[in-house]
Amino acid sequence: MSSKGYRTNKTDTWKPLTRLGRMIQEGKISSLEEIFREGLKIREPEIVDMLVPNIEEEVINVGLVQKQTDAGEKSRFKAVVAVGNRDGYIGLGDGKASQVRVAIQKAAVNARLNICPVRRGCGSWECGCDRPHSLLFESIGNCSGVKIKLIPGPRGLGLVASEVAKIILQLAGIKDCWTRSYGSTQTIPSFAYSVYDGLKKTFFTVTQHDWVG
Ligand SMILES: [Zn+2]
Repeated sequence: MSSKGYRTNKTDTWKPLTRLGRMIQEGKISSLEEIFREGLKIREPEIVDMLVPNIEEEVINVGLVQKQTDAGEKSRFKAVVAVGNRDGYIGLGDGKASQVRVAIQKAAVNARLNICPVRRGCGSWECGCDRPHSLLFESIGNCSGVKIKLIPGPRGLGLVASEVAKIILQLAGIKDCWTRSYGSTQTIPSFAYSVYDGLKKTFFTVTQHDWVG
């Protein structure tokens, strides 16, 4: 399910609230690469929309959450949304609200704030093509009792993964990989976060290659 919920906020009327936001509007920073290289934190979703105009959103899950209040039981919706450019960037976020539409909007904003680079490559010994169609090395993601192993695969393999994992991997720009999951994989939000965690670790893990290089 694609959503355009958040996109109703236009970037041309954006008034940046942070220093990073102003630098982007003034054209001093023109790519997400620069932000991650400098280790800066994204605090405004418009930053992502400015720098990644082709970003796509997918609603991963919408569930009901019950909350006890003085007035009795209150139901709210919890949405999980993934964003990505199908070319090395992925974000995942959630949001709660009494209306589904608002929960999705909040989740879409949080997904943007959580965007991170994915290190892609060809880590498959059967392939060795050196193109960024898969992962460079195996990566393990965790979230609340769910674990997923992302394993580099050869070109043409496709994504050997469940539907939710496929949506996230595709948004990240991974075309071929094997996955193995463990734990309560039926809990979609935790499962989605474990896939995101595995992708995020590809960038923040220091490899032997980095030490040598
Ligand atoms: Zn390859």
